[in-house]
Amino acid sequence: MIDLSEIFFSIQGESAFSGLPCLFIRLAGCNLRCSYCDTTYSYQATQKKSITEIIDTIKSLSDCKLVEITGGEPLIQKETIVLIHELHQYGYQILLETNGSISLDDISDYAHKIVDVKCPGSGESTSFLLSNLERINPATDELKFVLCDRHDFDWSLSQLDKWNWNAANVVFSPVYGLLSPQLLAEWILEQNRPIRLQLQLHKYIWHPSTRGV
Ligand code: SF4
Repeated sequence: MIDLSEIFFSIQGESAFSGLPCLFIRLAGCNLRCSYCDTTYSYQATQKKSITEIIDTIKSLSDCKLVEITGGEPLIQKETIVLIHELHQYGYQILLETNGSISLDDISDYAHKIVDVKCPGSGESTSFLLSNLERINPATDELKFVLCDRHDFDWSLSQLDKWNWNAANVVFSPVYGLLSPQLLAEWILEQNRPIRLQLQLHKYIWHPSTRGV
């Protein structure tokens, strides 16, 4: 059985798939406590479901074949790997959003991984598991930095330099309500790097505190 927070159908608000209709499976529980966390409600499970029940639920919501597994932190539950496998068997395109602190070694290549690197402003900047860099496909997966301020921006660039990471799969996203998207856009334009500015689209479509979107 898997501990769940919520399952819903909405517009994908983040990642290279932003703007597309997408099913979301939000798993409960997280091993981190980021200062800006906007899903604190997911720390505790609201329900438990078997993998079969989860797949039945998403099928009842939509025929959409794009599904995101998110949290909380989905990889703290061992069954998540089985869920990914089963969704693949059913023909779903799978996005996996993870906080970067847990090994990706057992995650199949067919899952599109969106991997956070927690910045100092999060209070969790020592959490990133460096060996995960080898499990991120620079051509498809995404490396995401969520930024609170200029210090986070400079720190993120220094990490990329340290890792010699020049791939075009780096995403910088401002914490909603804390860092101005315009300011972040200007900082990115000062750099000669293929960094993608990402806004949380769902927070502009709906009220930022709306759940299940
Ligand atoms: S990793 Fe995600 S869910 Fe966990 S505390 Fe940080 S922002 Fe919240």
